[in-house]
Amino acid sequence: MKIAVVGAGAMGSLYGGKLSAIPGNEVYMLDVWKDHVDAINENGLLMEEDGEFIKYPVKASTDASTVGVCDLVLVFVKSTLTKTAVENNRAVFGPDTLVLTLQNGLGNVDLIAEVVGEKNIIAGTTACGANMIGPGKMRHAGTGATIIGELTGEKTERLQKVVDMVTEAGLMGQLSTNVTGLIWDKLIVNVGINAICGILDRQNGKLLEYPEMESLMEAAVEEAIAVAKAKGVELGFADPLAHVKDVAKATGANVCSMLADVRAHRKTEIDMINGAIVREGAKVGVATPVNMVLSKLIENLQRPVEA
Ligand code: NAD
Repeated sequence: MKIAVVGAGAMGSLYGGKLSAIPGNEVYMLDVWKDHVDAINENGLLMEEDGEFIKYPVKASTDASTVGVCDLVLVFVKSTLTKTAVENNRAVFGPDTLVLTLQNGLGNVDLIAEVVGEKNIIAGTTACGANMIGPGKMRHAGTGATIIGELTGEKTERLQKVVDMVTEAGLMGQLSTNVTGLIWDKLIVNVGINAICGILDRQNGKLLEYPEMESLMEAAVEEAIAVAKAKGVELGFADPLAHVKDVAKATGANVCSMLADVRAHRKTEIDMINGAIVREGAKVGVATPVNMVLSKLIENLQRPVEA
């Protein structure tokens, strides 16, 4: 299968690298980060797993026209860049190209659909973790389920094929018939953890150690649950708040991506996480003041540092 990864950062490299190890797959990494692309083409993609570097046979480019139409495209840019990245890499999308997004946040499917249409998009969530070490080098930080579904909820042959391939790659593929619920389940976890840890500069586990952090998390999550219910989203957890707390505990030592972005003065995904709750809440008449405040605080933190 000819596969392209649009956004070959930490997660794109994890999935692209692992898929390239399956015989018959040809994987192209597309990224705007030229040093990373050059390093991959010179030395291969180096993935650190359990303290050892393994080389994966991917090719990389900054120019999608050198790759051409692919059978499968994984979109793995940060969600704030989804539309631009899909537009800039149009050359890999043909009429039959299947497009997979496992990005965090709400709205990626719609943004991709604006450029390539909806019928070939499959979506889901990943509980895997990865981070960049430097150009051409990344770390596989953890493996969890990759759950994927058709937007219609159908169990199709094309979906099963991708799920099986992800499993063969070692990334625990699972099929979902409720992709919207799945995306909201993950969104609610991110709503509860990311902004608060980003603002207070704390690891995930601290949310359960400090009552003032925990009560903020509870309030943000309760708003998100109310919005999901008002929209008729069928959540996968009977007690979503308990699930958020379980995740915060299980990932206690993690610096979440929003905190990492705040520390590095990069743009965060706030607009697609807590910001999405505020927008969706307004549409269905649910007040979301806690998520509004969290969003504004992160927005301010991501401004350039003043002298
Ligand atoms: P990342 O910043 O490491 O990678 C994104 C890459 O996209 C970068 O290399 C960047 O140069 C590239 N890019 C930016 N604009 C582009 C464009 N126009 N065309 C092509 N490439 C472009 O981010 P990440 O950590 O891999 O996260 C990707 C997504 O996965 C996010 O939605 C994130 O929330 C989600 N996610 C991350 C993890 C994790 O452990 N890192 C886990 C689960 C989900």
